[in-house]
Amino acid sequence: MNRQQEFVLRTIEERDVRFVRLWFTDVVGSLKSVALAPAEVEGAFEEGLGFDGSAIEGLARIFESDMLAQPDPSTFQILPWRGNGKSEQTSRMFCDVLTPDGEPSAADPRNVLKRTLAKAADMGFTCYTHPEIEFYLLKSDKPGPDGIPVPVDQAGYFDHVPGGVAQDFRRTAVTMLEDVGISVEFSHHEGGPGQNEIDLRYADALQTADNIMTFRTVIREVAIQQGTYATFMPKPFSEHPGSGMHTHFSLFEGDSNAFHEPGAEYQLSRTARQFMAGILKHAPEFTAVTNQFVNSYKRLWGGGEAPSYLSWGHNNRSALMRVPLYKPGKGQAARLEYRGIDSAANPYLAYAVLLGAGLKGIEEGYELPDAAVEDISALSSAERRILGHDPLPSSLHDAIRQMEESELMPEILGEQVFENFLRNKRAEWQEYRLQVTPYEINRYLGVL
Ligand code: GLN
Ligand code: MG
Ligand code: MG
Ligand code: MG
Repeated sequence: MNRQQEFVLRTIEERDVRFVRLWFTDVVGSLKSVALAPAEVEGAFEEGLGFDGSAIEGLARIFESDMLAQPDPSTFQILPWRGNGKSEQTSRMFCDVLTPDGEPSAADPRNVLKRTLAKAADMGFTCYTHPEIEFYLLKSDKPGPDGIPVPVDQAGYFDHVPGGVAQDFRRTAVTMLEDVGISVEFSHHEGGPGQNEIDLRYADALQTADNIMTFRTVIREVAIQQGTYATFMPKPFSEHPGSGMHTHFSLFEGDSNAFHEPGAEYQLSRTARQFMAGILKHAPEFTAVTNQFVNSYKRLWGGGEAPSYLSWGHNNRSALMRVPLYKPGKGQAARLEYRGIDSAANPYLAYAVLLGAGLKGIEEGYELPDAAVEDISALSSAERRILGHDPLPSSLHDAIRQMEESELMPEILGEQVFENFLRNKRAEWQEYRLQVTPYEINRYLGVL
């Protein structure tokens, strides 16, 4: 037993914790949870907790279904929305999934990200991430009589609605996030009715991914407590912007920001340019991961400031990658923002492919194409072709096909996750393509 594990056992005792939830995720990023009695925690640290991996999407095949969940003591946290705050408390720890012989499971998304971060560490880098998470707050989980979800308000970007539901919601949610150790930088109303954004303070990429999983749970819990419903669906309304999860990346070498070079164009170092070039080059191959649902493509191609083409820019909000402004003398804040990813991505896999693609650009010394200075969506397709702004995949089907042809993705994800993920996505596409939608009934019933 190491000191962190001992600390957890002591805290469980001192704080009168009644349930210890062990958390991990499946291949699409759904949270899985099993509650342990405090007396079982020591054993789980030592040997892991056995479970049937074949019952978890994308984790194990039926003939090798025994898996172990081993809690990571550094992620121990009391959950403020269960228990009365003094006794009978509930806590959680994220887990690493192990095979029966105690090896990290190649199919565990958290392990995929850990491997990518280990590779970055071999190259001398620590990776920090800062997500801007958008979501809609609805009146209920049921759509209205017209089949369209009902948002809690009609406000827009940065609106302050006196007496509005969203304000109270954000206040309670931010407090609860701080209570579980997640620092929030900004929160505001976003562009769509009922749409909100909460930006988490930067943290190392594994911690950010864990934080995003916790964030989704907290947001959902608070919404339910307040009689509303929160959704991370990428595009719940055809008429309003989708919910993105723009993420800012920076690489540090020791204490210094490897993306920053005073005097260089946009103050971007060669490392930053190569990292960005890697992401731009491989984006079509990994979009199935960062934008994993049929509905994700309605956001990417539905306007509302979502990016549809490969491009980068300084202050260009139609660009897929943006170099945010930072104040002179604040070189440590140098970072690159990826605007393609949506709020329903599996954060472990999405950050693994983004970082993996960026690291590939550094390793191979990719050249960065010119910055886009114009609004890319306003260009003609011929102009876009000349300028090299190729489109992102236009549907889940297109994204699956481009991922299938990738050499880099199986390398980053490992063959097992690569195959499991694609299998899940092919099934989703197959199911979707058989649906006859209300749109089609309206459009075609009286045709010809
Ligand atoms: N909602 C937009 C998206 O889907 C982003 C809007 C913004 O933050 N500027 O990416
Ligand atoms: Mg923002
Ligand atoms: Mg936003
Ligand atoms: Mg942004």
